[in-house]
Amino acid sequence: MSDRIETDVVIVGAGPVGLFAVFELGLLDIRAHLVDILPKVGGQCAELYPEKPIYDIPGFPMVTGQGLIDNLMAQIEPFHPTFHLSEMVESLECLGTAEAPLFRLRTDAGTEFITKAVIIAAGGGSFQPKKPPIPGIEGFEGTSVFYAVRQMEPFRNKRILIVGGGDSALDWTVNLAPLAKRLTLLHRRDAFRAAPDTVNKMRALVAEGAMDFHLGQVVALEGTAPVLEAAVVRRDDGSTFTIPCDVMLPFFGLTMKLGPIAQWGLNLHENLIPVDTEKFETSVPGIFAIGDINTYPGKLKLILSGFHEGALAAQRVFHYVYPDKRLVFQYTTSSTSLQKKLGVHA
Ligand SMILES: Cc1cc2nc3c(=O)[nH]c(=O)nc-3n(C[C@H](O)[C@H](O)[C@H](O)COP(=O)(O)OP(=O)(O)OC[C@H]3O[C@@H](n4cnc5c(N)ncnc54)[C@H](O)[C@@H]3O)c2cc1C
Repeated sequence: MSDRIETDVVIVGAGPVGLFAVFELGLLDIRAHLVDILPKVGGQCAELYPEKPIYDIPGFPMVTGQGLIDNLMAQIEPFHPTFHLSEMVESLECLGTAEAPLFRLRTDAGTEFITKAVIIAAGGGSFQPKKPPIPGIEGFEGTSVFYAVRQMEPFRNKRILIVGGGDSALDWTVNLAPLAKRLTLLHRRDAFRAAPDTVNKMRALVAEGAMDFHLGQVVALEGTAPVLEAAVVRRDDGSTFTIPCDVMLPFFGLTMKLGPIAQWGLNLHENLIPVDTEKFETSVPGIFAIGDINTYPGKLKLILSGFHEGALAAQRVFHYVYPDKRLVFQYTTSSTSLQKKLGVHA
């Protein structure tokens, strides 16, 4: 079923730059919907380095990747942005004119947006799962092979094979074991990158006989696609064995790909979107690109650059959303109307 949402702005990407754009838009009375393919906000900061310290965010001598995202979420809370997580924006069509832009965006989850402006804050592109090189695996994808778990219920009473040794593999092992008919975890070696606490929980389940753990790599799938019956596994010594299963969940990490943005009819330069440096608008009026995804002379792929770009893009978006209103520049320190929007009571 398709959800149709009419809004002023859609932000593609809920990384740090997309999140801060919500703040700058909010000060101008522009509400935003954000879409991200990941199940959580924070982009690279939350996905790639949540515990690493960042030292070059103005005003923060040190803040971790996740700490920055938590603070950004607190900062934009007064503007009540709407998040559409675990959804990838697949298509973007222009419906309006250069003077009065209007766009239709569609996600892979069936959400449709009609919006006056689009801010692309898609970083290095969408995070996509790394797929194991198993012959014919595509035929099973979406029916018996899944790279993410969106809902647990469809896995009830299934024979589940989880492959991998990171946090996703171990978290889903521990969460799905109670509802699976039988769950098997397969990893190349008996050492894990996942949090030690989760690894201990998995080992306890194995000790109780509630699940199985094997070493090896899947080299082939058995069954008539898309119905999976078993995975053929090769041990380090070259011998093979078979694990009967209805579903396989390979968790081999994520990679960043430009993805569908390449099909949106925008000018691209080496997989980046060229913008002007006054408004950070693309070759299409009403479509903006901020953060790591854009390029212009002197561009630095720093979070602070993306924050600046979002502030200037928001000023231009204002003219598309409120064509008859004049925009007056104000400081948050001195404007009581801005403070009211932020929920500050003078
Ligand atoms: C290890 C590491 C350390 C770093 N250290 C620093 C540092 O110290 N200081 C600094 O300033 N920068 C640092 N960076 C860079 C910084 O993280 C990036 O500049 C910043 O994350 C860019 O933010 P963004 O919001 O533009 O993009 P991202 O953080 O990449 O977020 C983009 C989001 O868009 C989503 N997306 C993309 N396409 C779609 C689509 N079609 N549909 C839905 N969602 C989509 C992605 O899933 C992603 O969540 C570091 C980066 C790494 C990897």
